[in-house]
Amino acid sequence: MSLIVIAIGGNAILNPVKGNPKEQQELINRTCREIARIISEGHDIILTHGNGPQIGNILAMQEECGLVHPQPLDICGAQTQGMLGYSLQQSLINVLSEIGIKKEVVTILTQVIVDGSCGSFENPTKPIGLYYPEERAKMMMARGIKMIHDKKGYRRVVPSPMPLEIVEEIAIRKLICEGVLVIAAGGGGIPVIRKNGLLIGIEAVIDKDLSASLMAKDAGADTLLILTDVENAALNYGKSSQVDLHEITVSQGEQYIKEGHFGKGSMEPKVLAAIGFIKSGGKSAIISSLDKALDALVGKAGTRVIAKS
Ligand code: ADP
Ligand code: MG
Repeated sequence: MSLIVIAIGGNAILNPVKGNPKEQQELINRTCREIARIISEGHDIILTHGNGPQIGNILAMQEECGLVHPQPLDICGAQTQGMLGYSLQQSLINVLSEIGIKKEVVTILTQVIVDGSCGSFENPTKPIGLYYPEERAKMMMARGIKMIHDKKGYRRVVPSPMPLEIVEEIAIRKLICEGVLVIAAGGGGIPVIRKNGLLIGIEAVIDKDLSASLMAKDAGADTLLILTDVENAALNYGKSSQVDLHEITVSQGEQYIKEGHFGKGSMEPKVLAAIGFIKSGGKSAIISSLDKALDALVGKAGTRVIAKS
């Protein structure tokens, strides 16, 4: 029996183009069937998920409605943990029962401590939500919303600090010991700071791959399995000289990051998360796609980060 922390991307559970509730549920069921196959092989799982498209939708609804006071980002993050946790939790119970496995599944609203004085708060760089045309963006910026401009238009940018500590870490471990399938740290966790011994929510988003790595370390997991929409991390990604990576050492990974091979905010945090887990003593860290998850676990697919060759 081994413990695997599985991180799935927000796009694996929401197709932002289609996204009607029925298609949504089908996508979630598909994801959960793959996870159920891993459980049926005898592994314990902590599941975490991204929330990029979902938090973007909540911000867009707030922006368009104009009738209610917009909620801060920590509250929006908590909303996405609730809605995605609900859908995943229900679907997992259903698909597991279809294959004769009775398991308790619990979503934990998870707070993650960040450093409120780190540079990320002074200079936010993480783009989230919809693109806006210039006129609209100027009105939003006049309300104090920070935005950046690229080819497609203006987009809100927010701080994305490093996850330092998972507040509910002990509760997660207790549930795992009881054989419960835990869904935790969704969307990277709800960002909070600790001030004079109190927890206070803060406006930021945390990268889910980095939180998954921290959670895997805390829980003493054997494996960190990051599932996304590509089968491998690659060098020269998207070019004719692209090389898919199968096994890399921590130092090779660090070198490739330095050379800028991995997309910032997409593949780079996954490689960093895998490196971080192995450096902290984790046994196995793999990046692959959802449909290759089982193959990846037995070394037949994906990109694996190892300590040294
Ligand atoms: P998730 O929602 O699963 O976190 P992301 O979009 O953040 O997904 O990251 C996966 C994406 O990273 C891939 O779809 C791919 O376009 C992009 N990517 C950037 N650089 C690389 C690379 N070097 N190798 C593979 N994929 C890369
Ligand atoms: Mg991502």
